[in-house]
Amino acid sequence: MSRRGGDWEPGYRALYRSGELARRARAALADLSACRLCPHGCGVDRTADERGVCGMGSRPVIASWYAHPWEEPPISGVRGSGTIFFSGCTGRCRFCQNYPISQYRYGNEVTCERMGDIMLDLQAHGCHNINFVTPTHFAAHILAATDYAAGRGLHIPLIYNTSGYETVETLRLLEGVIDIWLPDAKYADDAVARRLSGFPNYVAHNRAALREMFRQVGGVLLLDEAGLARRGMIIRHMVLPADLAGTAEVLRWIAAELSPHIWVSLMDQYFPAYKAVNDPVLGRKITPEEYEAALTAFDAAGLEQGWLQEHEECE
Ligand code: SF4
Repeated sequence: MSRRGGDWEPGYRALYRSGELARRARAALADLSACRLCPHGCGVDRTADERGVCGMGSRPVIASWYAHPWEEPPISGVRGSGTIFFSGCTGRCRFCQNYPISQYRYGNEVTCERMGDIMLDLQAHGCHNINFVTPTHFAAHILAATDYAAGRGLHIPLIYNTSGYETVETLRLLEGVIDIWLPDAKYADDAVARRLSGFPNYVAHNRAALREMFRQVGGVLLLDEAGLARRGMIIRHMVLPADLAGTAEVLRWIAAELSPHIWVSLMDQYFPAYKAVNDPVLGRKITPEEYEAALTAFDAAGLEQGWLQEHEECE
């Protein structure tokens, strides 16, 4: 974040002016020749269109973009969050609600310039921010698109909306570029994370990623005078049937190791989709009792701020 003449501006604007954003974009795009953007560390040459776990090659693939009205209130505001849904994913969640996009990879290849124009379109339509959904495998392209769009007047905050399966190295590439980190903390148990989502060593990678995000932006969600998020971090945790997400342990870790003041979105909207349909455990919604237990765990952890059922603010 920086201030200029009393006017707030997102951090990426200064990086654009100094040329640092362009430098990082060039380096990150070149590194796609042995891609290690996420913890899978495939090492494939994506510049030659080789594919790793995420299934994506040299160009960004975008499924849709629009003003999203149903994100957390400081993100959607009154005019919506400018979400860009990327195709492909580093995960394999059996219950993915976006599986046509994440697993079947529906979408259209675009250039980084086209992605930048989409960002500018969303800004022109009044969106409060740009919200990159499932962005990790396109982090290099995001840097290039942001550099392009910043040169054409992009000035709204950037949000990184991720599963939380990240490397610290990729997050450092994005330092000062991303204004608001919006990671999941999905699991407290590696075996469950691998079985349900195809994420090896999720817990260690996720916790290192959350620590890095916290180091970059701190635990305070900076809001403007209209109550819209400008900078900070919100952690999402979705309660799963039969406590497969390890909710109490996840919440306890966040409060103890990051901050009890950090904003947490405790989500109740799980429903069986994709491979979870008819699954003996995952094939149902969570019960009111399961969500009540999650609320109790939230309080027991000492967490103080967040959005609970139906995104009601807990304070
Ligand atoms: S971004 Fe894709 S290709 Fe690169 S390491 Fe991750 S899964 Fe593999």
